[in-house]
Amino acid sequence: MLIGCPKEIKSQEYRVGLTPRAAAEVIARGHKVIVETGAGTGSGFPDDDYTATGAEVVATADEVFARADLIVKVKEPQAGERKMLRDGQVLFTYLHLAPDPDQTRDLLAGGVTAIAYETVTDGRGGLPLLAPMSEVAGRLAPQSGAWALQKANGGSGVLMGGVPGVRPANVAIIGGGVVGAAAARVAVGMGANVTVLDRSVPRLSYLDDVFMGRLTTQYSDQVGVAELLPRMDMVIGAVLIPGAAAPKLVSREQLALMKPGAVLVDVAIDQGGCFETSRPTTHQDPIYEVDGIVHYCVANMPGAVARTSTIALGNATMPFLIALADNGWKQACKDDPNLLNGLNTHAGHLTYAAVGEALGIEA
Ligand code: NAD
Repeated sequence: MLIGCPKEIKSQEYRVGLTPRAAAEVIARGHKVIVETGAGTGSGFPDDDYTATGAEVVATADEVFARADLIVKVKEPQAGERKMLRDGQVLFTYLHLAPDPDQTRDLLAGGVTAIAYETVTDGRGGLPLLAPMSEVAGRLAPQSGAWALQKANGGSGVLMGGVPGVRPANVAIIGGGVVGAAAARVAVGMGANVTVLDRSVPRLSYLDDVFMGRLTTQYSDQVGVAELLPRMDMVIGAVLIPGAAAPKLVSREQLALMKPGAVLVDVAIDQGGCFETSRPTTHQDPIYEVDGIVHYCVANMPGAVARTSTIALGNATMPFLIALADNGWKQACKDDPNLLNGLNTHAGHLTYAAVGEALGIEA
């Protein structure tokens, strides 16, 4: 099979869908790979890294789309890329079709077999191709929040770990899932005094076990959050209600309860944000202030560490990519119901019920 990897063209996207190691892996299994020149540059993989594996580096995205049987990407195809996709071609990437009728229409009209990273499952209720990015965003959250706490950035000037004789920062993490646990790990590692809140008691119990007393767990309700706010130097929002917009857990009025220069890091901003005063920001201009509270609300946090994110995503997609290449999409999806859950469009039909419901199209 000929596997093609174009350079990402979405603004500020530095990741790449195929790492040189993944290219080497599929080439060793008898497949061919074509990569657009510069595709890996943003993640620190020059063209030479691909040619060293036996992959062919080509000058344009047109050539990749025209020749490949299977296209591997990171972001949903942009309008120009959708025009290049061919009938019967297989596309393996993040799609997020539910809020995107234009893209859905184009993929259906183009007859593309599109497998979405975000709906592939793992059989334990998890989303294995979303989890690595949550791990990255979670680990970045305390790091970004610590930077925002610095005086020059409008923060209160508190050091996460304190120093001998000076108390560390108090950090609350609302939502103890993949993002929350990863954030807790780094915040604890930085020496902060960490409280994790969740609505799932089994999840709190798990975190209590694995952190062995190095953090405090608390059930997440309105009164509990309000009581915590005056003591916190940083609050990290990491909640998710699958398929729904994030609930607003801190109101604008409640900002007055917080210390001046305290920091809110809203990782859930890609689901609308869990603080009333959150609005999406970019890596170029990541923070803003409301009522003396610094907000960090970057919607694509993993992009800040494109190399780590690319490698983590590549590790997670690798087994599915191998199955698609070795067996073809039909057999691979027959063999693995978790991969089948990723199938969103095929031959002009929508094949994912939740997307159909969101867009009012029969699936
Ligand atoms: P997850 O499903 O693993 O965890 C979410 C947790 O939130 C669950 O444990 C759930 O019990 C808890 N929760 C739900 N409602 C709650 C409430 N009212 N109070 C406290 N806890 C509550 O999800 P995840 O992978 O950790 O993702 C968390 C959020 O981060 C999502 O919105 C996701 O889209 C977002 N995210 C953002 C970025 C970014 O770059 N900004 C990157 C990755 C993920």
